[in-house]
Amino acid sequence: MIPTVPQASCTDPSELDALSVIEAQRQILAHIQAVLGSEKIPLPFALRRVLARPIVSSLDVPSFANAAVDGFAVHSGDLPSSRQTAKLRIIGEALAGHPFIGPLQPGQAVRIMTGALLPEGADTVLMQEHVQRLEADQILVTGHHCSGENVRLPGEDIRRGETVLSEGRLLLPPDLGLIASLGQLEVWVKRKPVIAVLSTGDELLSQGTPYVPGKLYDSNRFSLLGALTRLPVETIDLGIIPDDEERLEAALRESADSADAVISSGGVSVGEADYTKRVLARLGDIQFWKVAIKPGRPLAFGRLGQALFFGLPGNPVAVLVTFYCFVLPALYRLAGTEPPFIPTLSAETTQPLRKKPGRTEFQRGILTLTPDGRWQVRTTGRQGSGILSSMSLGNCFIVLEHGRGPVAEGESVTVWPFAALM
Ligand code: AMP
Ligand code: MG
Repeated sequence: MIPTVPQASCTDPSELDALSVIEAQRQILAHIQAVLGSEKIPLPFALRRVLARPIVSSLDVPSFANAAVDGFAVHSGDLPSSRQTAKLRIIGEALAGHPFIGPLQPGQAVRIMTGALLPEGADTVLMQEHVQRLEADQILVTGHHCSGENVRLPGEDIRRGETVLSEGRLLLPPDLGLIASLGQLEVWVKRKPVIAVLSTGDELLSQGTPYVPGKLYDSNRFSLLGALTRLPVETIDLGIIPDDEERLEAALRESADSADAVISSGGVSVGEADYTKRVLARLGDIQFWKVAIKPGRPLAFGRLGQALFFGLPGNPVAVLVTFYCFVLPALYRLAGTEPPFIPTLSAETTQPLRKKPGRTEFQRGILTLTPDGRWQVRTTGRQGSGILSSMSLGNCFIVLEHGRGPVAEGESVTVWPFAALM
């Protein structure tokens, strides 16, 4: 069974048995183990996949000494001391991919382009802007140069035998470039966990069916399936399940067999939790939590057979807040990589914000940069957990910490820009 640690709040008696956000995150993460299995895939498909085997370099990169700039390859023994000058004769040209053949003798220089192999006998590249061309085949060098300047040495980026990327790395664009620079075109990545998504509720309509008064179109599956595309996971859309014990049980039983994790929305609030609880108790080991978070207080979490289960609240904003707070870090861990670091900013609020101590609040905000370079934030307006347009209007969460009370205009608040999440 998953342990719970209630956290008391100082002001709101209804939050007395609620878990803090940090404690809920900790308990969820402590429960997750990475899926097993890996596959070898072509490198161009490996973006945002999780590396299953370390990448060990079979080469020095660069593999040869080459020019870092366009200029003249010379030997440092020919460089004059300060206040002196020297004349060097140009004996040829080296281009990237087309080396100069033959050694450089004292008093000679080779015209060289960026990336070209350093000719035998040269150890320094003089930037073309730093020398004076006297004749077609002669340059004048002043005494301001250092031995070895503008040369990229073999292995200065990567040494042969070095582990350049570790197992568990979430592959980002530069990693693909790095692997490619070693000449590899395939890579071993971890299997993507399969995540099933479903919506519950008799009031939900499918898109494409006519509107019926008193009902509403299901939006949560679309928000969740969209959010999941950023993650190294495969998704299954289980559609809408009505508020019916048997139908819910059948859907969850099937999803527990085919998925590594199941995410449902709706049906965990106090009024509806009873039959959901009965179904989940029959199929697995689920805890119903009250988390001291707004929006998003009710949350169910545990195991459904072999699968993880996240029962998110029904309200559309609460779904996204609880997804980003609890589900996203858990799914990265399930996929075999550490949850990514979410950069936050401190911003000055241009309005007073209502806030009760004893819960963490995720208000939707609009973050702007003033002409003199300060971050400012204001809310998107009404903050109800059903106001999904606030997530589209806003560009960040204003995160008001557990112990914090009302916020005055001009105070500093923490924001999570959506760009880092979505
Ligand atoms: P529940 O948690 O099932 O009590 O739902 C709370 C609120 O969220 C109700 O107003 C529901 O109509 C709404 N809701 C639940 N599921 C969805 C959904 N999939 N899409 C949009 N709204 C939903
Ligand atoms: Mg419902």
